[in-house]
Amino acid sequence: MKSFNPPIRTLMGPGPSDVHPRILSAMARPTIGHLDPAFVGMMDETKEALKYAFQTENDLTMPVSAPGSAGMETCFANLVEPGDKVIVCINGVFGIRMKENITRFGGEAIVVEDDWGTAVSTDKVEQALKDNPDAVILAFVHAETSTGALSDAKTLCQLAHQHDCITIVDAVTSLGGVELRVDEWGIDAIYSGTQKCLSAMPGISPISISERAIKKLTDRKIPVTSWFLDLNLVMGYWGEGAKRTYHHTAPVNTLYGLHESLVMLSDEGLENAWARHQKNHEILRDGLEEMGINFLVKKEDRLPQLNAVFIPEGADDAAVRSTLLNDYNLEIGAGLGAYAGKVWRIGLMGHTSRLENITLCLAALKATLNK
Ligand SMILES: *Cc1c(COP(=O)(O)O)cnc(C)c1O
Repeated sequence: MKSFNPPIRTLMGPGPSDVHPRILSAMARPTIGHLDPAFVGMMDETKEALKYAFQTENDLTMPVSAPGSAGMETCFANLVEPGDKVIVCINGVFGIRMKENITRFGGEAIVVEDDWGTAVSTDKVEQALKDNPDAVILAFVHAETSTGALSDAKTLCQLAHQHDCITIVDAVTSLGGVELRVDEWGIDAIYSGTQKCLSAMPGISPISISERAIKKLTDRKIPVTSWFLDLNLVMGYWGEGAKRTYHHTAPVNTLYGLHESLVMLSDEGLENAWARHQKNHEILRDGLEEMGINFLVKKEDRLPQLNAVFIPEGADDAAVRSTLLNDYNLEIGAGLGAYAGKVWRIGLMGHTSRLENITLCLAALKATLNK
C-alpha cells in the first residue's frame, strides 16, 4: 500500500465545500485526551461560538460527534415519542428523511407536500395545524439542498407556536450561509452540519435545543431508544465545567477543525458571511444567465449557497460533469430524484463562496458546453 494523496479539487457541489487551509492545519495539531482540561476549555469555547452561529442563548448547544444525518436523528429520537403526531413538510429529499425518522421512532407523520424547487407553503402548514389540533411538533427543512429552495422559517415557527407545537428545523445547509436566528424565530430543535457553509470537514453536526424542547424530553414516558444519541446522557459529557463524565471519545482533531472554522466565522462576522454568500450568488447567477442557463427556483426563494440550474438542451449531464472534474478539478453536483439528469447543483458554500471559484466555474462550463 501507499499513502493516499487526494487530488486538489474545487468543491462546488452540495457539500462538502472547500475546507480552508487554516482549518486543515488546525486538525493536524497534536491529539490530546478528550477529558484533558485544555480540551474541555476548547469545547466550552466551541459551544459558545456555536451559540453565536445559531443566534441563541440555549445552553444545550453542542456538536454531535457524527454527520448532519445524526443531528437529524438526535432531534427526532429525543423529541418524538410513540404516538406523537408530527406535521412534516416535504419539498425535497431531506423532508422525506425527516418523515422516515418520525415513523421509525413511532410517531404519526402528517405530511404537507410542496413541489420540489418551491418553498414550504405557509398556508398549507397553517391549514395542517388547524386540521390537526393534537399535533405536537412541526418539522421542516430551512434550506433544501436537493433543490436550492429556502423556506420561511420565521413564519413557520410562529404558526407552530400559535398551535402549541414545538419546531424541529434542518439547518444543515443554512447555518452560516443565510439569515438564521434560532431564539428570535422560536426554533426549538435545530441541527446543522460542518461541511457546508461552515467549511469545516464533514462528520460533525452542531445542534441546539430550547428549554421548551428540553421539557418535552424530560417529560418522556419511555426512555430515548437510541443510547448514543440520548441527550440525557450526552448532556453529562458536554455539560458545563469539570464534572464531565465519559460518554464516548470525542473526535478530538475534528473538533479542532470546527473550533477553527468558528474562529473564522466570528472574525468575519455572521452577517458579513450571509452578505458574502448573497453577493457571490448574484455574480454567479448573472454569469449563468448570460450563458442562457436558467434557475429551477424562483428568485425570492433561492438559496444563495446552492444554485440549482437546468442543464442546457443537448448537453450530456454526466459527460459535462466528468470533464469539469477531470480537466478543471472542479466538482459540481448532479440533480436528485425527479431532477436527476435535469439540473446541476452548483454550490457556493463557506470557503468555496469566492470570486475566483465563480470565474473558474463560468469559464470551465462555457468551454465544456462549447465543445
Ligand atoms: C447535507 C444535508 C444533510 C445531511 O448531512 P450529512 O452530513 O451528509 O449527514 C441533511 N440535511 C440537509 C438539508 C443537507 O443538505
